[in-house]
Amino acid sequence: MKKVQCDVLVIGGGPAGGITAITAKRHNPEKEILLIREDKEQLVPCAIPYVFGDILGSTEKNIASCAPVENTGVKTMVGVVDEVSIEDKKAYTKDTQISFDKLVFATGSTPFVRAAMSEAVKLEGVFTVPKCKEKIDQLKTYVDTKQQITIVGSGFIGVEIGLEFAKSGKEVTIIDGAEHMLHTAFDVELASQAEELAEKAGLTLELGNYVDSIEEENGIVTGVGLRRGKVIKSEVVILATGYKPETDLAKKAGLKLARYGGIWVDEYMRTRNHDIFAVGDCAARRDFITREPSKVMLASTSVSEARAAGSSLYKIKYIKGFNGTIAIFSTMIMDRAFASAGVTEAQAKIQNLDIVTGTFEGMNRHPATIPDAVKQSVKLIAMNHSGRIIGGQIIGGPEVGELINIIGLLIEEKVSVYTLMSLQVATHPLLTAAPTNYPIAKAAEIISKKME
Ligand SMILES: Cc1cc2nc3c(=O)[nH]c(=O)nc-3n(C[C@H](O)[C@H](O)[C@H](O)COP(=O)(O)OP(=O)(O)OC[C@H]3O[C@@H](n4cnc5c(N)ncnc54)[C@H](O)[C@@H]3O)c2cc1C
Repeated sequence: MKKVQCDVLVIGGGPAGGITAITAKRHNPEKEILLIREDKEQLVPCAIPYVFGDILGSTEKNIASCAPVENTGVKTMVGVVDEVSIEDKKAYTKDTQISFDKLVFATGSTPFVRAAMSEAVKLEGVFTVPKCKEKIDQLKTYVDTKQQITIVGSGFIGVEIGLEFAKSGKEVTIIDGAEHMLHTAFDVELASQAEELAEKAGLTLELGNYVDSIEEENGIVTGVGLRRGKVIKSEVVILATGYKPETDLAKKAGLKLARYGGIWVDEYMRTRNHDIFAVGDCAARRDFITREPSKVMLASTSVSEARAAGSSLYKIKYIKGFNGTIAIFSTMIMDRAFASAGVTEAQAKIQNLDIVTGTFEGMNRHPATIPDAVKQSVKLIAMNHSGRIIGGQIIGGPEVGELINIIGLLIEEKVSVYTLMSLQVATHPLLTAAPTNYPIAKAAEIISKKME
């Protein structure tokens, strides 16, 4: 068995592993950092939906470059770690023993399939959406010659993939037991707008309806039976029903897991053993506002955790660690951008938070006669007594992709509506809403009037 030695071993080359390794090297240039990853070619996971349509068209156009990691002096190796001995500080692949001083689990997540679907997933024509190039290529090749596609799950991954297939004229149905699409990120009045657009784009939505059976003939899928009795003829079924933390290795090594199966970590991403860290989708998460365990899995969240871990391996450099996910996310449906951060009004009510909401609808250019002007609506959710912003949702043009990041900062920095009402912003007719109608400030103003 080959023997290798390093100071910091990072297991997993996704966004979390890569950024932990880069950050660790920047803070500890004298240390030897080794990143081991399973796949030689790593996909950019967030762009997987766009390999199915003509935006990217193939997985070859969606390969994450290793250069940013390797150029910083981090060593990389392709392989699978099968075993970790925490006591001996050693990890093993099939032919190599790696000794380490610090270890970071960045083993990510894999598709979650409900127990009731565990047999169905073995049928020809039934797929999940893993982040592995070979499997995405298999799915793409199979779907290319098929017409009737059914997707189970109306989260952003199911919707984004469905929209790409619909663009090439395929008949796409999305099924979800929830009454509304994207329901974890948007309140009903915004989710309904997303549904209207998705239907315009050619998707058939079966919401508030559960899968009862997967129909098959000779081991090949033929349809999906719904609880309300209907059968949807399907040549392909894609299960987009979420992801679960990949923690088999950590569990075998004796690490403590938290609710929803992620590796238990503190805010600096340390396990109880302060030489062992976990970051990204494999780590347990809490919600930033409610402090409840969270199932949110996002590359952006993973990278924030990676920066906190990478700078805290040997010494805690910054007092700010990772303090919970704000579930910040954005997507496009046709030419409209949808984005969300923090808690929704519905979630706030479930958590018994005393909140006030304000929605302002304006235009993203001024005056509204500017040729590319489109409607922009901002909904803010704030605490009733302090006015602290705890959530926001936006629909508009592409600028929404960055506007939501302002709301993310407001949430993380505990900003109140009073600060927002006199916020100084740069505005320009060709670039933004009018200063007189700046949507974030106007939504804050609406909230302040409603507050007790
Ligand atoms: C289709 C799709 C679209 C998405 N879109 C978005 C988006 O728009 N925005 C967003 O923020 N998030 C998005 N996400 C979520 C995002 O991709 C994940 O949150 C992110 O990939 C998590 O990063 P990670 O590094 O923790 O894990 P992963 O990306 O899962 O990477 C973990 C890596 O570790 C490797 N590994 C596991 N075990 C071992 C082992 N024992 N030895 C060696 N290597 C190992 C795996 O092979 C994998 O490559 C999307 C996800 C999918 C699937």
